[in-house]
Amino acid sequence: MSGDETQGFPGLGERLAAVREGIADACRRASRDPDGVTLIVVTKFHPASLVSALAELGVRDVGENRHQEAQAKAEELAALDLRWHFVGQLQTKKARQAARYASAIHSIDRERLVDALADGERVIDAFVQINLTDEPGRGGVEPPGIEALAERVLEAPSLRLRGVMAVAPLDEAPERAFERLAGYSERVRALEPEASAISAGMTHDYAEAIAAGATHLRIGSAITGKRPDPR
Ligand SMILES: *Cc1c(COP(=O)(O)O)cnc(C)c1O
Repeated sequence: MSGDETQGFPGLGERLAAVREGIADACRRASRDPDGVTLIVVTKFHPASLVSALAELGVRDVGENRHQEAQAKAEELAALDLRWHFVGQLQTKKARQAARYASAIHSIDRERLVDALADGERVIDAFVQINLTDEPGRGGVEPPGIEALAERVLEAPSLRLRGVMAVAPLDEAPERAFERLAGYSERVRALEPEASAISAGMTHDYAEAIAAGATHLRIGSAITGKRPDPR
């Protein structure tokens, strides 16, 4: 655990182990199989060396929210066989490039973005991001638009619709927000039964997300420690 790779990051292995334990506990309380939950470690703003230290500790799924940073890290660490999850706002003009290194894009929030990704060179996983706040423009499609956007993804040859994604609002109990998300997930599953994934749960609300059925957790600071300021 304190091999060369993790030396520069004191406590990283312990924090990862604590989060894995926390996930196992939450699964027990929810009577869920932990194998049904994928941990994505969000490494944004941290150096590629931290990502390789995580890989050394057995992490395979990593999340990033800015294209240029993600692309640079994915290139540098191409030998590591990691799955890169893009979780941030994605500009339409950067979409095709992101699809080259990303295995999954969790932030599909508009039809133009789907169109930009529709004819890529390989098939990648797509999550429809849903806005759980009352404020339009907070990231994510508004709930009435879920079906149209999901249908668009289903028609895109190089996208595989996996399910829904959301960030819990700051001003609401996460339990309530994730309950709504579970309902939106059912609406997507009514269109495509295999699109049953729910990407939800971050450092402060992953236990609530597991209780509400989350299948993909996006956890950053609980594992990586405090984020450096973005460059
Ligand atoms: C940064 C980020 C996370 C991880 O946040 P933490 O609170 O550090 O766990 C998860 N999802 C998205 C979309 C993010 O941008």
